[in-house]
Amino acid sequence: MADSIKYTSTRGGEQNLSFDDVLLTGLARDGGLYMPESWPSFSYKKLLQMKNLDYPNLASEIIKQFVGKNLEKKIDFISKSVYSSFDNEEVAPIVKLKENLYLMELFHGPTLAFKDYAMMYLSKLFDEVLKEKKKKIVILGATSGDTGSAALQAFQLKKNIDIFIFFPHKRVSNVQKKQMTTIYGPGTESIALKSDFDGCQTLVKSMFNDIEFRDEFSLSAINSINWARLIPQIVYYFYGAFRVGAPEKEVIFSVPTGNFGNILAGWIALKMGLPIRKLICGSNRNDVLTRLFNNGIMKKTDVIPSLSPSMDIQVSSNFERFLFELLDRNPDKLNFLMNNFEDNNYYELDKQQLEKASKYFESFSVSDNEILQTIKYIHKEYKYIIDPHTAVGIKSIFLAQQEKKLKNNLPIISLACAHPSKFPNTIFKSLTFYPEIPQRLGDVLKKEEKFKIIDNNISKVKNYLINQMRK
Ligand SMILES: *Cc1c(COP(=O)(O)O)cnc(C)c1O
Repeated sequence: MADSIKYTSTRGGEQNLSFDDVLLTGLARDGGLYMPESWPSFSYKKLLQMKNLDYPNLASEIIKQFVGKNLEKKIDFISKSVYSSFDNEEVAPIVKLKENLYLMELFHGPTLAFKDYAMMYLSKLFDEVLKEKKKKIVILGATSGDTGSAALQAFQLKKNIDIFIFFPHKRVSNVQKKQMTTIYGPGTESIALKSDFDGCQTLVKSMFNDIEFRDEFSLSAINSINWARLIPQIVYYFYGAFRVGAPEKEVIFSVPTGNFGNILAGWIALKMGLPIRKLICGSNRNDVLTRLFNNGIMKKTDVIPSLSPSMDIQVSSNFERFLFELLDRNPDKLNFLMNNFEDNNYYELDKQQLEKASKYFESFSVSDNEILQTIKYIHKEYKYIIDPHTAVGIKSIFLAQQEKKLKNNLPIISLACAHPSKFPNTIFKSLTFYPEIPQRLGDVLKKEEKFKIIDNNISKVKNYLINQMRK
């Protein structure tokens, strides 16, 4: 292999970083996000060879492209140990609904949502690098639901890692809350912030932007802004596309989107040579991205709670990475737009940039009522129960087809991002019965909860954290 890949910040303040640097910090010191200096890519011939790899081996092949030499030789072992703990041998099995319409089940990890695929991997990478550097870190994260449980599950009670997860008080589902608040111990905690998800995210971001605080406690981010979390998500796009005909055929993916992390991983797969014809970006009623892709205007409004709470977001942090590419990786242009956004909650793409974005993405917004109807329809037609987020992805496909936005006769894979039992009340509302609860979730629901409720006030939060961190 050539020299190890180097990383750069979208805002131009940091360059030439190693994978280990970007792994441990997460958010760049200039407020930007880390990106590889260029995209590794696979030839057609190489894709044909990769097509028949099992999930762990495929993961290794892809993930090795992005790490430093020190980790490269450990990747095979990590891939095997992470994905052998999942409850399905395929890891990300494909379910055929009908000709050219597939679901990819991404809920076979411990917390039953796709976040596990990356988070379990991330914790192993952290372990390796921290051992090597003999360091201790403090992980801070904001969650709209599923990230928090996946992170706590993956990083709980580790000797050299403290983890504190903030979730919006009373705005996550009961199951999501249980999955977080039943994991606790010294240096492992969830905190309910009296705010919405964007408030949680802003709070965590401002603690990271406080360089003194950040350095003193070696803060580390595991939100989807952490570059290393995106990498394992790239894997299932390859895996799924191969199952339905790639690389010989082009494939379309539909992705229910919030923070733009999951769908960005799909776009990276495309940049790496996977023949993805289009990525469909499904939004719920919080449709900031749909508006952007349709008219080029990024305008933040208030978050309205919906039936797909993990997507109740108005600031899609990872979009900055795609924006960086749209602006031909020019940090000055990026800073100009992001400063505008921070000051005025607004920026606008020009016609050429919008056209470039439309080459890759189509976007649709799905109402709560459409979510309920889609769950019902899929159950009636295919005897399959989808969760409300997955319903957004499926409905977006139907809308794209109605508007004749997709090339015909290509296989379409809709990502099934969570198990329906995580959202029992919504399923009941749609189907008038409750979904079956897998045993690993049933066990969690019986455990005792423990969490702290705090006002959305940065100095209160900091004081609390300093008190709770292990020295
Ligand atoms: C996190 C999550 C999403 C949104 O994914 P992003 O990477 O934030 O765009 C959608 N559905 C479910 C079930 C999730 O947990």
